[in-house]
Amino acid sequence: MQRVSFRPFFIFALIAAIVVTAGVVLYWRQVTVLLEKDVKIHIADAARDSASDFDRLVQTDREILTTSALPIEDAYPWKDESYVPEMLARLDTNNHFDLLGVALQDGTVIYSTPANRPLSQAAIRDLLKQTNAGKFYISVRPREKNYPSAILIQAVPLDPNDGKPIGALFSVQKEGYYRDVLALSAMGNDGHSIIINRAGDVVLSYEKLPAPNIFSVLERFTLDAPLTLNSLRQEIAQGKSVLVGYYTPDDQHNFWQFVPLGTNGWYIVSAVPAKYVEEQATQVAKLSLVLFGVVFFVFYLLFFFLMRVREESNRQLFTTAFVDPLTGVDNFNRMCEQFPTVLAGLNRQAALVIFDINKFKVINDLHGYERGNEVLKRVAQVLQEELSADESFCRLSADNFVLLLKYQDRRSFLKRLKALAALLKRNCTVEDSCLMLDVAFGIYEITEDIPFYIMLDRAHLALEHAKTRTFDKCEFYDAADRNRIVAEQQIENTMEAALANGEFEIYLQPKCDFVTGEILGAEALVRWMHDDRAVRPDEFIPLFERNGFILKLDMFIMEEAARLLSTWQANSMPIVPLAVNFSRLHLNDARFIPQMRRIMAQYNIPNKLIEAEITESVIFNNLERAQEVIGGLHLYGFPVAMDDFGSGYSSLNVLKELKFDSIKLDKEFLSGFEENPRAQKVIQGAINMIKTLGVKVVTEGVETREQADFLRRCGADLAQGYFFSRPVTVTTFEQLLQKKTLL
Ligand code: C2E
Ligand code: MG
Ligand code: MG
Repeated sequence: MQRVSFRPFFIFALIAAIVVTAGVVLYWRQVTVLLEKDVKIHIADAARDSASDFDRLVQTDREILTTSALPIEDAYPWKDESYVPEMLARLDTNNHFDLLGVALQDGTVIYSTPANRPLSQAAIRDLLKQTNAGKFYISVRPREKNYPSAILIQAVPLDPNDGKPIGALFSVQKEGYYRDVLALSAMGNDGHSIIINRAGDVVLSYEKLPAPNIFSVLERFTLDAPLTLNSLRQEIAQGKSVLVGYYTPDDQHNFWQFVPLGTNGWYIVSAVPAKYVEEQATQVAKLSLVLFGVVFFVFYLLFFFLMRVREESNRQLFTTAFVDPLTGVDNFNRMCEQFPTVLAGLNRQAALVIFDINKFKVINDLHGYERGNEVLKRVAQVLQEELSADESFCRLSADNFVLLLKYQDRRSFLKRLKALAALLKRNCTVEDSCLMLDVAFGIYEITEDIPFYIMLDRAHLALEHAKTRTFDKCEFYDAADRNRIVAEQQIENTMEAALANGEFEIYLQPKCDFVTGEILGAEALVRWMHDDRAVRPDEFIPLFERNGFILKLDMFIMEEAARLLSTWQANSMPIVPLAVNFSRLHLNDARFIPQMRRIMAQYNIPNKLIEAEITESVIFNNLERAQEVIGGLHLYGFPVAMDDFGSGYSSLNVLKELKFDSIKLDKEFLSGFEENPRAQKVIQGAINMIKTLGVKVVTEGVETREQADFLRRCGADLAQGYFFSRPVTVTTFEQLLQKKTLL
């Protein structure tokens, strides 16, 4: 049995895997690019946020300083020396500054707390220089001597007279205060910011850089194309925001986002390791991949499940459509479907064989269906083992198998089939049974390119032929068989019309007295007048016996005979009894005798004038039934003759049981007796024996005077044969009757 192929499934799975992999790669790239873009925007946003935080911080400090300066200015000139320190101390406690101070033009510096961390002269000078110009001062001093790390100094002018400032109010803030702003919390712990001026010098940094200038740091690194250090410098000089990517010598990828600040032309530079960007991208991509994988897996499972369901239903369909439920081998549909392929595989050197188990019904009857089925299964098994892989076979119906086999030549093929028959006989015969399995083979050697069903018909035809054989029931299809079938088909198609059109006629053959040649009776023999030819019954009677038409035809002949008799009677012509042949089919037809009686009554002639001829073989096969029928015919006064005695398996028992009025010795029984003394003795003996039973003996096929003389000497009563007359038309017969004698 064919298995349903998984190939499409695997091909699909492979294609799906390729598509999915390609999809994942593309997706991964796309996601990475998009995410990188996204993260870069995020970095820029975070940097901008830091910038505005810083700007806001500075702005707030400036406002605090400006408002704090107001009361100091208002109180000027200060009444006592303690005013400013007290004021500063008060301001200091309310604010976040590390230190507040007032620097006066004369070099006096007053601090908010007892100054243990005074600023350097240079720092004071620097801030005064700016505030004296009426401007806000902000600056970072990285190395102020009283401070361990950089400090941010901011200052506003003290100008009570709105003219020349008397000094400045300043604040000191440690670098650490800005750590929160410089730490890029949005970027996790990886990012931080640096504040630089336009020249790239570091103003404030979250952590220590390898060089005090950002450009000299970048010089050591490789910038991501298309940016160069020069173009970066230019962009910074123009106050633009720029994102720079670079690789460190140890191959770490980082990003720096430059965003201008609102103070001193400074820039905030947010540094984020690319690792952070990539991690983000990887994480999203990974998540998508997992999702993708899950979806694909579920889909795949579903698909697999569907395939299984489909395979199962295909298998079931296949089994119903193509498998013989009893034997499990291919059925006829399967054979039809596979036929062209198998035939091509055998290079058309093949033969189609139908084989049939003779009397299989007997096996069923004797041993029951179970055992019968067992036999069929075993036959299928043997065939399966015996046929090669490129051949095929199926069970056609009950005990019929069709085989498509390799064919080389007639001899070896027949040898193979005989061996197969022997094998089947050996392996498949029912146990404890005396019934040997006997098979018949009908073979069609494939020589023409004709449809399968015609080949099958031909093999069938050969099988019918083979079955009639006693031994070696193998028969090849013969074109003559086919021609016969075609001719028979034509006959069947036209027989009814022929009967209606009066194409069937009776010929009469006289039965004569040996000595005088007087016509004492006649046998009605049918002729089919067809195309100006009187077709002999041998050409159509066997067919009519098979299709049942003989029942009609015999009655037609019987009626013709009866009508003839009634015409003779009416015209006062000489009358002799007429014998009509009745086929074996009438024996089982209940209408037989009633029909005969109806016809006789219709033509109003005595029943004894029609003799029924029933052939010997029929009687032999159905003794009881024959007895009944003969009894019935006798009951109504119809004489009965046994036709063709001695042509088949004549049994003396038949003579003993059945009361015939006459027995017709077959021409075969008489043939060649002239040269054979033994035959003469047999004929003599048979005639004597029949005569002693009081039965008349009619001899058929008397062709010569010698035969006639011999048979007369033997005591035969009547002679029928060419020596006296051939079967003749009714008109000729009537003329012969007028002559009375044929000798
Ligand atoms: P049958 O009943 O034995 O008829 C005798 C056959 O022997 C006839 O052949 C006849 O022509 C032939 N015959 C007669 N004398 C000679 C002779 O001297 N030499 C040779 N060689 N043959 C001779 P026919 O007419 O061809 O009939 C053949 C068979 O067809 C008949 O054999 C009969 O069995 C059957 N038949 C004929 N007509 C009918 C019919 O109407 N109904 C039925 N059921 N069978 C019929
Ligand atoms: Mg006859
Ligand atoms: Mg005969």
